[in-house]
Amino acid sequence: MNRLVLKIILRLGRYAVLPVVALACAILAIWLMAMDRYTIAALVTAPLVFPIFTAAVALAIGLLLLPSRKHRSFEANEETAPGLWAMWKDLDHSFVRSNRTLLIDTDFNASIGEVSRYAGLFRRHVTMTVGLPLLIILDERAVRAVIAHEVAHAQLRHTSGGTNLADFIAASENVLFYADPEQTITGRIARALLHSMLEWLEKEYRALSRENELCADLGAAEQVGRTEAARALVLMEACGTRLTDLVFKPLEKEVLGAINAPRPPFARILEQLEDIRAPGPMAAAAVAGLSREHEPDSTHPPFDKRLANLGYTEIPEIDEVRTSAIDRLLTPDAARDLAARFDEDWRKKAQAWVSVGM
Ligand SMILES: [Zn+2]
Repeated sequence: MNRLVLKIILRLGRYAVLPVVALACAILAIWLMAMDRYTIAALVTAPLVFPIFTAAVALAIGLLLLPSRKHRSFEANEETAPGLWAMWKDLDHSFVRSNRTLLIDTDFNASIGEVSRYAGLFRRHVTMTVGLPLLIILDERAVRAVIAHEVAHAQLRHTSGGTNLADFIAASENVLFYADPEQTITGRIARALLHSMLEWLEKEYRALSRENELCADLGAAEQVGRTEAARALVLMEACGTRLTDLVFKPLEKEVLGAINAPRPPFARILEQLEDIRAPGPMAAAAVAGLSREHEPDSTHPPFDKRLANLGYTEIPEIDEVRTSAIDRLLTPDAARDLAARFDEDWRKKAQAWVSVGM
């Protein structure tokens, strides 16, 4: 039952509140009709009916007034990222059936999301986000496996869930905006109910996400082969750790003590590429990843579980990374400009932090 409710929310997003609103309207209609015949009973139940109706109206307003989310990544069209688009098309057989957007952001990660507007009445719009560090550090083979994993999420219809859940939570929270919990009883009841509901929803969602990750890994393995999928998994784990140790941790320290903004992240990544990919330390990082303590709040299963899911009980032998995917997947101009642009954005932000700190 719980899973069913969650699935409805993940499918319908904020529109999942519509049945609740409809129910509240029906209760009000029945109550108004009862007013004539059973006046006393109607008056006695008024303190119950009105808060339910107010909360439902608040939900409905919250639903209508939700602002759309704006992204702050770079949108890559087919001219700037021809190789990446070709790879996506090649791996995704349902490509022609939906609208697509390809974004590039600054994370060492990739993700895929989907918006189907008006509860899925219109064609779905799929947005894939690929991190620039991923394109710089990994080679084409590994990026292909990562994209196959994202495409599997879309094909298994995992994609709309996250966005829809966030939408639903935001729509529900709007109730508290219209019914102030400090001032009204409706608000107080709504806050108590929402709090336990959101806690439950998030817990269920994390469990479902972890299952989805394992399914997407298997989907990727079907497309690119088990060895390639496992290689990408190991590289993501190991390079991710190396990137944090060699670039992000030192950078964080420098920002804290700096008067001027330190050297920005992409300049450092490009400079230390050989070190990040160095086979010895990378193998050690992969092994350490196997026994790393798992965060219970994570939406991803632990590294060892994901490898086991692909049939590996230990770190497999993998080919070294010698080239950058970005050289094949983006035009040279786009590759250069993008790193420079992200670094410039970062420099501005860092300068502001540093100035505040002084
Ligand atoms: Zn995934």
